[in-house]
Amino acid sequence: MSKTYRDLMLDMDGTFLDFEAAENNAFYTAMEKFGYTATEEDYQIYKKINQGYWEAHERGEISREALIIARFTSYFEQKGIDQDGAEFEEVYQELLGQGHELIKDAWEVLEYLKSKYRLFVVTNGVESTQRNRLHLSGIEKFMDDIFISGCIGVQKPQKEFFDYCFAHMENADPEHTIVIGDSLTSDIQGGMNAGIDTCWFNPKGKARPQTGAGSLAGREGFTDLEIGSLKELKDIL
Ligand SMILES: [Mg+2]
Repeated sequence: MSKTYRDLMLDMDGTFLDFEAAENNAFYTAMEKFGYTATEEDYQIYKKINQGYWEAHERGEISREALIIARFTSYFEQKGIDQDGAEFEEVYQELLGQGHELIKDAWEVLEYLKSKYRLFVVTNGVESTQRNRLHLSGIEKFMDDIFISGCIGVQKPQKEFFDYCFAHMENADPEHTIVIGDSLTSDIQGGMNAGIDTCWFNPKGKARPQTGAGSLAGREGFTDLEIGSLKELKDIL
């Protein structure tokens, strides 16, 4: 079935850590701290703005530092509220750094994978936030090393991100490395850019795109694994 791997590169948010739950909690708690009452509709407005900025970031149009503030500046502008976006972002980021809910079966699956492979975190985000969440969730103990874009200075899907990881992994062997993640644009495209195998975690059963990341076009020898639940990793790896 699949070829033999030695090293697994693991995305965290949306793959092993439940980032949606962390974002949700941080948003409402930060709103409360600033004295606002946020509704589900407000959260949906913010989510749309936030997603738009991250997509622009992945296209290289805005820096991460700028977007994390701009998303709140835009939100409050849209709501007609006179609130400093940077100030809000600071509180939000701290709350986000405490969110550490796990995706279903994450612990059990990591325990299993750890017994067979070297495990490396490959995550986009703020270094202190990501480290704190890995620590609070307890899953840092499974990891051989942790690679965070905010620390490296480049992010997935850039090839340079993966180059950095391989340069810092003892006896790195891209031939026997696979990246596992939920994002076609950062994890799967990143793996393609780095020339390594990829496994798409697709819990919501999204349709596979016909072109671009995740499609089979132009990928000779591409071991294109796809899973709908983390538990499936125990069968295929
Ligand atoms: Mg992810």
